[in-house]
Amino acid sequence: MSAYPYEDRFAINRRLPEEGRPREEVLAELKAMAVEEDAFWETGQCSGTMYCGDHDHYGFMQEAFGLYAHVNALQRDMCPSSTKFEAEIIAMGLDLLHGEAVTGTTPAGLVTTGGTGSICHAVLSYREQAAATRGVTSPNVIKPETAHPAFDKACHLFGIELRKAPVDPETTQVDVDWVEANIDDQTIALVGSACNYGYGTVDPIAELSELALRHGVGLHVDGCLGGWILPFGQELGYDIPVFDFRLPGVTTISADTHKYGYAFKGTSVLAFRDRALRNSQYFFLTDWSGGKYCSPGMEGSRSAGLLAATWAAMVQIGRKGYLGYAKAIFEASAAMQEAVRSHPELRIIGKPTFLFSFTSDDFDIYHVNDFMRLRGWRFNGQQYPNALHMAVTRPQTQPGVTEKFAADLAGAVDYARDHAAESPQSGAIYGGVIGGMNDEADGFIRLVMADMMDGFQQVPAEG
Ligand SMILES: *Cc1c(COP(=O)(O)O)cnc(C)c1O
Repeated sequence: MSAYPYEDRFAINRRLPEEGRPREEVLAELKAMAVEEDAFWETGQCSGTMYCGDHDHYGFMQEAFGLYAHVNALQRDMCPSSTKFEAEIIAMGLDLLHGEAVTGTTPAGLVTTGGTGSICHAVLSYREQAAATRGVTSPNVIKPETAHPAFDKACHLFGIELRKAPVDPETTQVDVDWVEANIDDQTIALVGSACNYGYGTVDPIAELSELALRHGVGLHVDGCLGGWILPFGQELGYDIPVFDFRLPGVTTISADTHKYGYAFKGTSVLAFRDRALRNSQYFFLTDWSGGKYCSPGMEGSRSAGLLAATWAAMVQIGRKGYLGYAKAIFEASAAMQEAVRSHPELRIIGKPTFLFSFTSDDFDIYHVNDFMRLRGWRFNGQQYPNALHMAVTRPQTQPGVTEKFAADLAGAVDYARDHAAESPQSGAIYGGVIGGMNDEADGFIRLVMADMMDGFQQVPAEG
């Protein structure tokens, strides 16, 4: 099979076509690909990524998007509506994250392009503020090993040392004593996840909050995944600890509207306890010949369409809507976790929420993945230990999906038991390197990954 999709079905555009094509023809081509690709996740058998899956909702957001897609949110004099959308998205986010509990400072926010965008802006603001107010010149950030790679990326980009705290293998929660022992006068911020992407577990944010206050450093809570669903889980009575601005040491929270906010890809809220921290990363160029320039974040031009669509999603769904979706998701997740627990060979890692991860002490869990893949399931693969994770989203709340999961899982466990002596097929893609990671293995994996990424952006050679 070719790595380049659709080459046998649609012409490959190696150059800009001389003559433009009719709109209907272009749209028909787009539609053919979209419909086929949507069919893959519409079954409800795909972990995460399609948080909403409701085509009526997508249609509604497309209308909102279409009205403003051509507008540049950077030019506010021409689109004051963008201020309404952006300010209200932030206000609604702060409401959900208990901004009302903040005293002494003014809570504020930014709408960024996604989770990575929010995390990068948070890290940048800590660096800028620590440099200005504490004279920090060799900044470091401490994250739990389980926290998202976006922190590694942000630290890499901004010249910050990242210290990775170990986690308890049983609970997957960060070792708070290790964090404390590694704070020094150059530490700008600590990180905790609510919840993390790998295991769906929540770090001891209350303890991190105390640490942050005691040492006078920031605390970023990564609620990229959980920010728009865990507050509703709390309201529904699930055992989810407080992780938001009600904890006085929490200084920033990222919460992705493009995940459980059910908005289009391309937006996230970064909430700040203190407006001054946000403003520390504002960019100004006052003496440019092209005019005085400023931007509130790293992006330049932005589509007002995404702001409009995100705002429309939030006000259309409302608190009760989000609560109802959260209820269905938590119930589906509980049913799927129960199916996993019914097999003594399988083990759920830590105390998960709507997202859970499972492994096996009896066989390589990728055998289970091999079988489940043939039945149409798509999990996210993990390593150290090999595990599979399922982020439960609205497509899994359709009738019959959790039942199919339970039935297929039973078959998968039988299959894994029978094939325990062999090495699993999908293990090579996702699993840990045999014999452990070393420089040689790392170099090889980087080459394979770079080759894969190259492939994403090139047309096949001619001839
Ligand atoms: C998705 C995610 C991120 C990064 O978000 P992107 O939107 O992919 O940039 C960060 N943290 C967690 C916990 C996430 O799930």
